Amino acid sequence: MKFQSTRDKSAAKFSAAEVIKQGLAADGGLFVPESLPTLTETDIKALCAMDYPERAATVLGKFLTDYTAEELLADCRAAYAESSFVGGAAPLHKMDDTMYSLELWHGPTAAFKDMALQIMPRLLSRALVKTGEERTALILVATSGDTGKAALEGYKDIERIKIMVFYPVDGVSTVQKLQMQTQTGDNVNVTAIKGNFDDAQTGVKKIFGNAETAKKLDGMGYFLSSANSINWGRLAPQIVYYVSAYCDLLTNGALKYGEPMNVTVPTGNFGNIFAAYLAKKMGLPIDKLICASNKNHILTDFLTTGTYDRNRDFYLTMSPSMDILISSNLERLLYFVAGPERTAAYMKQLNENGIYTVDEDIKNAISQSFYGYFADEQQTAETIRRTMDRYHYLIDTHTAVAISAAEQYVEETGDRKPMVIASTASPYKFAADVYASLYEGTSASPLTALDDLSAKSGTEITYPLRGIGERTVRFTDVVEASEMQDAVFAYLAK
Ligand SMILES: *Cc1c(COP(=O)(O)O)cnc(C)c1O
Repeated sequence: MKFQSTRDKSAAKFSAAEVIKQGLAADGGLFVPESLPTLTETDIKALCAMDYPERAATVLGKFLTDYTAEELLADCRAAYAESSFVGGAAPLHKMDDTMYSLELWHGPTAAFKDMALQIMPRLLSRALVKTGEERTALILVATSGDTGKAALEGYKDIERIKIMVFYPVDGVSTVQKLQMQTQTGDNVNVTAIKGNFDDAQTGVKKIFGNAETAKKLDGMGYFLSSANSINWGRLAPQIVYYVSAYCDLLTNGALKYGEPMNVTVPTGNFGNIFAAYLAKKMGLPIDKLICASNKNHILTDFLTTGTYDRNRDFYLTMSPSMDILISSNLERLLYFVAGPERTAAYMKQLNENGIYTVDEDIKNAISQSFYGYFADEQQTAETIRRTMDRYHYLIDTHTAVAISAAEQYVEETGDRKPMVIASTASPYKFAADVYASLYEGTSASPLTALDDLSAKSGTEITYPLRGIGERTVRFTDVVEASEMQDAVFAYLAK
């Protein structure tokens, strides 16, 4: 299986190991497989008899044909071990006869990014060997909170890789900051910068764009790499849990083979929902894909009007991982629906004017699979309350946005097929907002919110967040944004 850019069919094609190492195509496009493998009835029935790591290795094997079955199974067993994913990698929680929550947050950082970031570093480590790379990969990440921690946990103690994470000193939550400052592992570094997330992001991009830095790093035996969500190595593992959810619906008798399910995904960068679309294209019986957005509902607008317009206000919400105006992975959907020429043209318009409108046939083709709904802040809080009342189920703010969207879809269409809702974070990761949505008053501090939520709801704090206030803080450096590059070399010199 070879991979090519979303923007040019005639450009060079690469192996999976090469695209995982490279990240982005040279023309600025994203890598996509040149053809899609299929999931037949025999495949799906066989997958149903497997445990999660085997399901993952089998599905990944259809794309990563330059990795052996043994390599993939060993990596998936290590990535999705019971010790990392306590309670299972992607358990399906039944809310009622047609609503199911696919809990993707049982990993080491209590958010769904673990599903990809626990496996992708292992794939990268092997990619270095497969591509004859002799240097060590230095992963640089600018984070507004969640991605940084998930990347640190994923890359820690992986051979031939070092990771350095920059975060805005006053721009992440107390819990997020503590999660990063207490990170374990011998190949990790965490540094705060004076500035906001954009300053951190700009600083990292500058380092990536500096040819002299690259040369100096090369001389020291390093090359730069990113843990970006547009890397194919992060996307492919996300296909697996939709297949897994379908298997679980077959096993528990909710569906007979061939009957479709619907899927709702709380969406930011469009990676998670695009993985569900790929599963559908490969043959998994999925009917509708419901794209859920928060107050930043650029995708809802795109799906209803065909116009993507990022010239609009940006809001900070209680579902911060969906606060985004550029959904990079949407480019991959455009490629599959509109082909590379039109995709390149739309992306050019987006870069130049911040807006594009897809042709009518493209809009119609997308509407056959996708529906878009959003929940504002009040609807999000109400959904957290209603979900507790109606289903006795505690959810986080992102999952609440999805449940609201799923309910709006059912209300509007009357479609009562089994609905799988991607639950992307533990409620304890956003304990203060969840607590405030459910109960009178607020907690004394962001850390006491975890205990308060546990006491009032009668549920246990998700294991990676337990006792977070008592762990040893390892990383306290704060630098100016202009000193980020010096900080990189200071870390490598240690
Ligand atoms: C990253 C994230 C999302 C958005 O996922 P995309 O793949 O970017 O659409 C939703 N919820 C949580 C909790 C996240 O961390």
